[in-house]
Order: sequence, then C-alpha cells, then structure tokens
Amino acid sequence: MMTYSKTLYRIFKRDGILSKHVPAYQPRRAQFEMANLVLRCLKQETHGLIEAGTGTGKSFGYTLPAVWWALKNEKRVIISTNTITLQQQLLEKELPMAHKVIRELAPELAEEFRYELAKGRSHYICKRRLEELWQDSLTTETPEREIVRQLREQLPAMKKGDREEIPLPVPPALFQAIQGDSDDCLGKNSPFYKQCFIQNARKKLQNAQIIVVNHALFFTHLILRRQGASILPEYDAVIMDEAHRVEDQVTKQYTYHVSIEEINILFNRFLKKRAHWARELDSSDLQQQTESIRARLVAKLVELFAPLARALAERPQNEYLLKKSIIANNEVAPLFKEWKTLFADKHKELKAAGGEEETVIGLSRYISQIEQMERMVTHVLCNESPDEWATWVAYEEPGAEGHHSLIRDDFAWASLLHLYSAPIDVSELLREELFTQKTVIMTSATLTTQGDFSFVANRMGIDEYEALETPSPFRYEQQAILLVPNEAPSPAEKEFEAFLIASMKEIVMTTRGRTFLLFTSYSQMNRVYEAMIPWLKRHGLTGLLHRPELSRDTLLQQFRSQPNHVLFGCESFWEGVDVPGDDLICVVIVKLPFPVPTDPLTKARMNRLDKRGQNSFREYMLPFSILRLKQGFGRLIRTRSDRGVVVILDSRLHTKPYGSEILASLPPARLTKSMDELHRFFTS
Ligand code: SF4
Repeated sequence: MMTYSKTLYRIFKRDGILSKHVPAYQPRRAQFEMANLVLRCLKQETHGLIEAGTGTGKSFGYTLPAVWWALKNEKRVIISTNTITLQQQLLEKELPMAHKVIRELAPELAEEFRYELAKGRSHYICKRRLEELWQDSLTTETPEREIVRQLREQLPAMKKGDREEIPLPVPPALFQAIQGDSDDCLGKNSPFYKQCFIQNARKKLQNAQIIVVNHALFFTHLILRRQGASILPEYDAVIMDEAHRVEDQVTKQYTYHVSIEEINILFNRFLKKRAHWARELDSSDLQQQTESIRARLVAKLVELFAPLARALAERPQNEYLLKKSIIANNEVAPLFKEWKTLFADKHKELKAAGGEEETVIGLSRYISQIEQMERMVTHVLCNESPDEWATWVAYEEPGAEGHHSLIRDDFAWASLLHLYSAPIDVSELLREELFTQKTVIMTSATLTTQGDFSFVANRMGIDEYEALETPSPFRYEQQAILLVPNEAPSPAEKEFEAFLIASMKEIVMTTRGRTFLLFTSYSQMNRVYEAMIPWLKRHGLTGLLHRPELSRDTLLQQFRSQPNHVLFGCESFWEGVDVPGDDLICVVIVKLPFPVPTDPLTKARMNRLDKRGQNSFREYMLPFSILRLKQGFGRLIRTRSDRGVVVILDSRLHTKPYGSEILASLPPARLTKSMDELHRFFTS
C-alpha cells in the first residue's frame, strides 16, 4: 500500500495529478512541505503552526492532505477561516479540485466525499415562521404581504433556503421575522420539521468529511458546547486559516456586552410574544408582573448609567477601562431574582400540569437567558476578576438626536452607555476548550516575528506544536522596493499630517493611481481624504474612500475598474485583499500599526504584562505591530510577475532601536530612503 507521503508526492510532483487539472502547473517545494506537515500532524495528533508566505498555495497545501486523511480514516475535519472570500475560494476552487484529485487516487473514496459550508441558523428561512406570518397577513393587511406571498411561492424551488438563495429583495426587518431562531424553534413538534431547511443543512453536515466554517461560528460552537448545545457535528481535527485573527475572534465571542437595550431585548423576548412559547403563555398576570420588574430594573440601571454617560460625554475619549466597580453592593440582584423566580414558578406549574413540551422547553431556555444576563450584568457592574477580565465603559455618540447637550432625559443618556468585559488573555480558554481536545493546525501568511512563532503560540495557548515557516516563492529583491523616507517627522509631531499629505501627493503623482493608502485610524484617513480630494481631481485622479458601511468587494471592484484610482483604506484593507497584477502597484502605509494604547483592552493587556515584570512594549505592542505590518505589506506582491513599491511613512523605522527588528521581519524587498528611487522604479 502506498504511504501517505508517497501519495502526496503523486499529487504534487511536476507531472503529478494536480498538473493535469491546474493550467501551467508549477510544483512548489514550500507547498509540498506544508502538505507533508499537515498530514503528519493529522496522523500523529499533534498541533501545527505554519507560516506560509504569499504565493505558497497554502489552501491546496492543507486541503488536499486533509481530504485524503479524512476519507482514508473516516474522519471529519473542520476548516475555519476569517473571511467569506476565503470560504468562497475553498468551496469553489480547492475542494472541487480535491474531489478531482481523489477521483484519480481512489475512485471509491471520491464517491463518498462530501464537503459543506456551515452557517448559523439565522441565515436560513424558518418555514414555520414564514407560514405564520402569511396566516397573520390574511387577517391583518401588512405592507410585506406581497413579499411574503412570493416567498411562500418560491419555497418549493429553493434547495438550501438560505438568504443568498432568495430570488427577490427582502427587507432586513422582514427577514428577521422569518429567519431561524433557536428561541422559536419547535423542533420535532414543528409541522415543517421534515422539510426544514435548517434540519436539512444539519443533516448534510453530518455526512460531510470536510466542513468549512468561519472563526466566529466556530468559537460560538465552542461556547455552546460548554452549555451542552452545538452547531457543528463531532469532528476530529481543525485547520484554521487566517489564524492571525484567532485571538481577536475568540476575544470577540467571549466578550460580555450590557446596555439598557440588551436588557430590553431580553424582556421583549417574552413581552412582545414573537416566539411560539411566549405566545402560549398567554397570562395577563405574568405579563403585568414582568412589565413591573422591567420598569424597576431599567429605572435602577438608568440611575447608574445616566451620570456615567454624562461624565463620559465631557471627556476626550469615548471608552475607559474601569479601575473599580460601578456599584458597591449588587443592587440589581434582587430584581433579577424576582424575574427568575417568576418564570421558574411558571415553568414548574406548567410542567406539573403537563403543558406543551415546546413551551416548557422555551421557558427553561428563557430562564437560562435571564441567568446568563444576570451573570453578565453582575460581572460588569462589580468589575469582577479585574486581573483576568478587562471591563470598560463606552459612550455612544448620540446619532439622530444630535449633540449631547440637547439630551435632557435620563433614560436617553443611560441608553448611550455600554459596558463591556473581555478576557485579557485567551490562551487558557483556548488551551482548555480547543488544544487539549482536538488536533489543531493553524496557518497564515503572518504568524512569525523574526522567524519566531512564540508570540502567537503564547497568546493562543499552544504549548507543543510542529512548526514550519515556508518562504514566499516571490523574488522580492527584484519585484519590489521598500521606501521609508528619512526626513519624516515622527507621527506624534503636529507636522506629521501635513507631511503625509505632501508625500502622498508626490507618490500618486508618480504612480498615477493604482495605489492603496493604508491608515490606522478612520479619523486621520477622513481628514487626509478631505484635504486631498480637490487636488486629486485637478490632477485627473480619483480618490475612493473606505467607509465601514460600504462592502469591501464593491470598493475593490471600483478600484480595479480604472487605473487612476487611489484607495484610502483602513482596518480590513490591511489584510485579505487580493489585487494581483498591474491593478495595484503601490501600497503606502501611513504609520506603524501599533495597537492603540488608550484602547481599554490593549491597556488591560499591557497592564497585565507590566505587573508581571514583563515588557509590554516588546512582548505585545511590537510583535502585534510586526504581524499587522506584514499583512499590510503583503497586499502588494500577489504573483510572481507583480512589481511595485511599499512606502512606509514612519521614520521610527530608522530612528528607533526596534526599527531594525521590524524591517528584519518584512519580506526582503530592497530598502531605500530616497523618493527618487520611487520615480526611478516606475520609469525604469
Ligand atoms: S423545525 Fe424549527 S426551524 Fe425548522 S421550520 Fe420548524 S420551527 Fe422552523
């Protein structure tokens, strides 16, 4: 029988199986090494950390061995990504290709091969909710009635029943009323159970050897599993691509958020009777008592939140890390107790009377939600475990109401206050929930700082792992230059912004467009954009501004459509953006992307390291910034024939001792300090 590594060789070699399916196939040593490591980790149940430089072909590097191992051993592998773009690529390119490869290797296994994309239930239509909405609209005329009618008509033709498949525009509020909701699912008692889109999708996952998922859903699954529920079926190993985002995603999923609105949403789950179980509990007594608890609980929170919101409105920042607790005694605890007891009594009564199973289940779920809310509210108000959790207050700028001086009402003030709490260190969580349970392989183009994996390994809690750093096959020395002007003012100086604008004008005059300008803050990006836009127009160039509400893909399409486009981007434009060829020839990075030190979570993370006698700058800020900078740099060269310039307008790379460490971590493009080189590069 052929060994695993021989099988991989058969796939990846110059005239191997892949060469028959990939036009102009070129074997890549780094890809082959990666595939071997992935297979070894899966077989030996060891964790792996793989930094695969751009151009390695890392998605094939893990997909093919994972599929082969899963099919040979009747296993299931989860592939988790951060972006939809990568999920689509896996589903449209790598996994179908893996199917073709398996067909040649072992046709009998190819027959069994199934891969699926896992989505949360809220992405699907719940047929029962749709039907109920239709029945309601027969007695009460609603504006959505025509859309509901058409949707109902389309249902038999729909295969998946997810949002993407709906052939007509559906307003978000209407979709919310018909989407799957665990709080309002009758399970086996639903008249639509047998044809349910969500149940169908779950069954398909059960039959799949490879399940593609996003990091957010994967970590939600881990949280739910702790509570005895689940989204994904049992699996044997996880491959996390875009793994540099794992810490962020885990933190996000475990973050508590408390606000008046969140509390109201929970009350409304019963009071507004949107779910079947709540409608079944048709008792005006219960309704009145719940209203009364709500009024007293909200009044208590308004009393606590309104003065805080007023104080924050006067301060320069909107978010502050809490040093002590907001309340001395837990004054909200009796109200939560009353709320819980009210529903627990009802639950007992209904159960004893042999009430409908789904209503009993719905009620017990509601009681757990009240308990969870109480835990969160107590945790944030009492600032529990401040060594382990960062708890902060955030003031939301008033929107439609205008300036905060116009707000008179205490309730309105209190509604602008949000409390958050996030784990300062997620390594222990990940160690317990993930690494001690399953084989995990993490990969990304940016996991090392100066060739060392220890920063990400420590932050994520991976103690033992096999590591591989595959260099990019690109010839950066010939394909790119890195320009870091020498005479730049430091980003902290007030002349810096004027310098930015002048430098950017000079750069885009040379490139004549096809340039990304990458910022670290929206406010600076907006100011520079406003300052440059008339000038750009005068010189026949078009500025495209990244707004958080605009889809990144739409903006990228626009960027590619004309060569005179200059894109002003923030956050998501630093990574996961692929513009190969001549459409992008220059990436300008405004400054080193250090985490913002006033951000509450960053502050808490730094405080914790400092308290332990570690150097928070060297052990957190610097490696974090290096990884992010490598991502930004990585936008430029996407293929072997790409050429271009990365400009970093931050002179700290020359003036600070850590500058050389950062430069040593970047791809080996030729470094220059002179703007003349930029002109020469593009005119040569
Ligand atoms: S089983 Fe649940 S999700 Fe599916 S149609 Fe019925 S109520 Fe809706």
